[in-house]
Order: sequence, then C-alpha cells, then structure tokens
Amino acid sequence: MTGQKIISVVVPCYNEEEVVANTIERLGKMAAGLKKYQFELIFVDDGSSDKTREILRRISEDNRTVHVVALARNFGHQIAVTAGIDAARGDAVVLIDADLQDPPEVIPQMISRWEEGYDVVYGTRISRSGESAFKLATARCFYRLLNRLSEIPIPLDTGDFRLMDRGVVDVLKSMPERHRFIRGMVTWVGFRQIELPYERAERLAGISKYPLRKMIAFALDGILSFSSKPLRLAMMLGIISSFLACFGIVYAFYMRIFTAAWVEGWTALMIAVLFIGGIQLIALGVIGEYLARVYTETKSRPLYVVDERASYGFSSADCLPTPAETQEPTILRRQRGA
Ligand code: UDP
Ligand code: MG
Repeated sequence: MTGQKIISVVVPCYNEEEVVANTIERLGKMAAGLKKYQFELIFVDDGSSDKTREILRRISEDNRTVHVVALARNFGHQIAVTAGIDAARGDAVVLIDADLQDPPEVIPQMISRWEEGYDVVYGTRISRSGESAFKLATARCFYRLLNRLSEIPIPLDTGDFRLMDRGVVDVLKSMPERHRFIRGMVTWVGFRQIELPYERAERLAGISKYPLRKMIAFALDGILSFSSKPLRLAMMLGIISSFLACFGIVYAFYMRIFTAAWVEGWTALMIAVLFIGGIQLIALGVIGEYLARVYTETKSRPLYVVDERASYGFSSADCLPTPAETQEPTILRRQRGA
C-alpha cells in the first residue's frame, strides 16, 4: 500500500437518493480499472431531506473507499464541495456531481494529463444533453459575460468537474471566502491548467437542485467575486445620465424664459426624474451587493458545520483527517464506525 498515490473524488449530494448508489457503482468501476492508484470517494451530504444520508452511511459500512461527511443543514453546492475538499487526503482531488452528468469514465483521462505534469485538468462541455433551452442559453450568456467582466480569464463552459493537484488544493484551502465560486478560485490559483473536452450527459434521475433562484445567486457570486467592474459601470451610468441632465437643464431654462407654456414640460420632467431615480437605485443596489459581501466576510463564521462522519472502520487517525489537521472549524457531534 505504501507509496501508492491516493486520488480523492469529492461528490456533493443534495436529495440524490435516486442516484447515489448508481454513482458509487460507476465510480467504483472506474476506480477498479486504475489499480495503480488508491481511491477514496468522499460524499458530502448537503443536508438532504430524503434518504441520501442513510443510503450513503449504509454503503460506507462495507465499502472501504466510501467516506461520508454529512453537513448539519443545506449549505449549498459550493460549500458542500469545500467540505469535501477539506476532508480529502488525496495527492489529487477530483470534483464531480452526484447525478452522473459528468461521466466518471473521463476521470482516467484527467489522471493521465495530471501524470503529464498538469496541476489542474478541467472538463469543458462540448455538448450538454437533456437540459432546457433556457438553461443552455442563460449558461452561455453568463460564462461570456463573466469572462468579459472578470479580472482573470475564467474558461468558458466549464463546471466544477475537474482534477486538482494537492498543491492547488492546499492553496484553495487557504482561501477563506464565504461566497465561493470554486471554478473561478481554481483558475485564480494558476499553475499549469489544461482543459479536457467531454460530452455532458443527462441527469441520471431526479430533478436539478439548481432552481432559477440558486442559479441567479451563483451567477452573482461569480461576477461580484471576480470583478469590481459593476461598480465602475454604475459610476459610468451616473456620469452619462448627469451629462444628459445638463441638456435637460438648459432646455428647462430655455422654456422657462422664452415660452409661456411652461406646464407642457411636465412629461420631460417626469422622464428625467424617473430616469435619474432609476439609475441612482441601480447604483445603490450594486454598491449594496458588494457591501453585503463585505459584511458576511467580516463575520467570519465557519463555512459549514459537520453533523456526522461515516467511513468503514472509522478512526480519526487512519481515515479522514481530524478537524485540527484541516483546520476545519466544525462541530463533530457523532463519529461512526468500528
Ligand atoms: N447540490 C448540493 N447542494 C445544493 C444543490 C446541489 O450539494 O444545494 C449538488 C447536487 O446534489 C449535485 C450537484 O450539486 O450533485 C449539482 O447540482 P445539480 O445537478 O442539481 O445542478 P445542475 O447540473 O442542474 O446545474
Ligand atoms: Mg446536474
């Protein structure tokens, strides 16, 4: 066993009872084909309200490679992935969704690029089947907008499906921000990164856990964490509208002095008031978004709370790292295992 490199696969799960058993099977098959490495599959239960946690716990009782970290409530996808990364011991860490949209069979290709010396191998989607035209269109626009605004070039059409070397993972772990946009953070780290095109499949079962509300929040996190251009844009809008207002003022004076029918200007006046009022509110809103983020960051609460861990023959010494090792600020209520 000694000397064998470890690959950790981190799988966030939120109400995925219909797929997790299948996911474990597919990942297991993939791992069996790569005897050279030791695999650990880290499933993070992100506060599911269905049977996901029980299913995972039961499987971990007789499957040595499966480890479960169950969070105390639903903390959201990006935080769940973070909890998994914190628990991972591997020389390389792979992030993959539970719904098998990202085929586990691509992982060996990622590993071979890693062996060539790349530190990050990220999957780019050539095609995405089974997703609504709305999701495809919004995702397409979002990645292009983000790329324009962002201070670093974030690759287009990539999700979190990627392999990261231990060096990158350690840097990532030292980034404490709460509003996490992991795909951008990994790009920010740098080192040698390479894309790996793949076909994105349909969700195996169940429905997307990313309703529009979560998608918008995630998109905002991406833009606001990687760009301060919206602030500048707000200022530019202010400058443009003040410039236009100058004409309005001249016009108003002209009408006041040289015409008798002053009341006729009411429409123009209303338009000007509403227009400038609108711009002011937008600008305030943009500033507010940044301010709210500063506020949540300064509270510096722990990113997540762990409720339970389960692994085959669990003991904190030989299995998952202890919270002290990972500096993971969590509360451990129960530890299961032999
Ligand atoms: N997920 C999670 N917490 C959440 C929402 C989603 O851990 O609050 C997980 C989910 O179980 C899945 C992954 O994140 O493994 C991606 O979610 P999903 O497939 O629903 O998103 P989509 O592919 O539709 O964008
Ligand atoms: Mg999915």
